[in-house]
Formats: sequence, C-alpha cells, structure tokens
Amino acid sequence: MKPTSVTILGSGTCVPSLKRSSCAVLLELDDTKLLFDSGPGTMHRLLNAGIEIFDIDAIFYSHFHPDHIGELVPFIFATKYPDSRRRNKLLTITGGNGFINFIKGLKAVYGEWLDLPEDVLRFVELDGKVVGNRQFASFTVETRSMNHREESLGYRIIDSGGKSIVYSGDTDTNENLVSLAMGADLLICESAMPDTLKVPGHLTPSLAGDMAARAHVKKLVLTHLYPECDQFDLAAQCRKTYQGPLMIAEDLMKIFV
Ligand SMILES: [Zn+2]
Ligand SMILES: [Zn+2]
Repeated sequence: MKPTSVTILGSGTCVPSLKRSSCAVLLELDDTKLLFDSGPGTMHRLLNAGIEIFDIDAIFYSHFHPDHIGELVPFIFATKYPDSRRRNKLLTITGGNGFINFIKGLKAVYGEWLDLPEDVLRFVELDGKVVGNRQFASFTVETRSMNHREESLGYRIIDSGGKSIVYSGDTDTNENLVSLAMGADLLICESAMPDTLKVPGHLTPSLAGDMAARAHVKKLVLTHLYPECDQFDLAAQCRKTYQGPLMIAEDLMKIFV
C-alpha cells in the first residue's frame, strides 16, 4: 500500500500571483487521485506535479466561488477534446446544495462542449444540511456545511488504512469544522488573512489554530493565503492558539500523511 499524500497545488486566492495559484489540493490514496477545488491554474499545477487530468478520479468542490471552481469548464473541455477516449475511467465531480443547478447553468452557456458519456463523467450533489457519509471504492467521504456560502462544504476523507484528511474550503469560525476535523491526521485549513486584517467569512492563523487545537488534529496546514499574508509571520500568529505540527502552504508542497 502506497502512503497517502497531499500536494498543495494552489495555496492562493482570487488574486493573480506567480507564487500562489488559486485553490486546489491533490490527495493521492492507494491508486486513487482526488482533487479538492480547482481554481484557475489547476491543470498547469497538476502537470507541474507530474499528474495528467485523466489520472483524476474525483473532484470535490467546497463552494462555487471562481477561485475554487474556475477551472471546472476548461477541465471538462480538455477531457472531451481532442480525444475523449484518453479518459478510460469515471470522473466523479461533487458539490454542495445547488450544484446540479450550477452545472445546468454552465451547460446552458457551453452546451455540448461539456457533454461526456455517463460512464466518463458524473455530477453528484451532496446535501450539506446533514452530516453526509459516502463510501467510495477505497475511501470514505464525510461532509459538513461550512460558514462561508450557503453551499459550502468541508470534507473529511478516510483512507483504507484509517488515516483521515480534512479540507475546510473557505470558512469563518465554525463548530462544524471542529467536529469534522476531530482527531484528524491532517487538517488543510484556510487562513485567508493575517490576524490583524480579518475579513468576514474567512479565518486567520490564530482562529485556524484555535479550530485545530480544539479538534486535536495531528498536523495543520494553513492555505488560501492572500498576498497580505506573506508580509506577516503566520506561524507565530497560529502559535498563539495551536502548538502541534504546523506548515504554511506553498504551491507544490507535498505532505505524506
Ligand atoms: Zn469563497
Ligand atoms: Zn476562496
């Protein structure tokens, strides 16, 4: 069994940055490859990481802001053209409340450019109102609603060896995040702005640290970093509330779980 690993493809936001691409995280478990969000630049970063779009088994969207979902249309288009037979396994794409309507809207604009056979592409809407628990072939997915947008979901993946990885997506302080991340081996948590520049709907290093400490996570990675973050000592701010293993995300950083 290969060790489960996480690669931060994009540690940034909607702000164009050569250093930090928009949000995307790659999770590799056994022979399965999952994406969490696909902001603009994700396919480029996947190639940087040595992965082709045809290798991805599922994409889990945290919410529909363009810095998280912007590469969905180009991803599907690149799967269809020039040769849709290059994908020889199912791609499952999930999102929270309203996801199927969101896809209908995209299809109203792009039409057949987004059509692929049902054994190649499947869209799944997950209900964020309740705790969701779904069993895939080699892993389990748990979801809870996050404090950011009506459709926002956080994800907890449990691999076949019992290791758990939690992805917050965007969120403000949130008891659902504490319970979703309880005892997790790795929490990939948004920390959009430094402590002194907090904005509604997002966390800061010390708030993310507080969530992580109360959830007793075994390792914390701070990501979704606006350019302002790079002028502050994020680790020092996070240390006010969290003492465990800590990493500040960089693009293409790979973490073994
Ligand atoms: Zn957002
Ligand atoms: Zn965002």
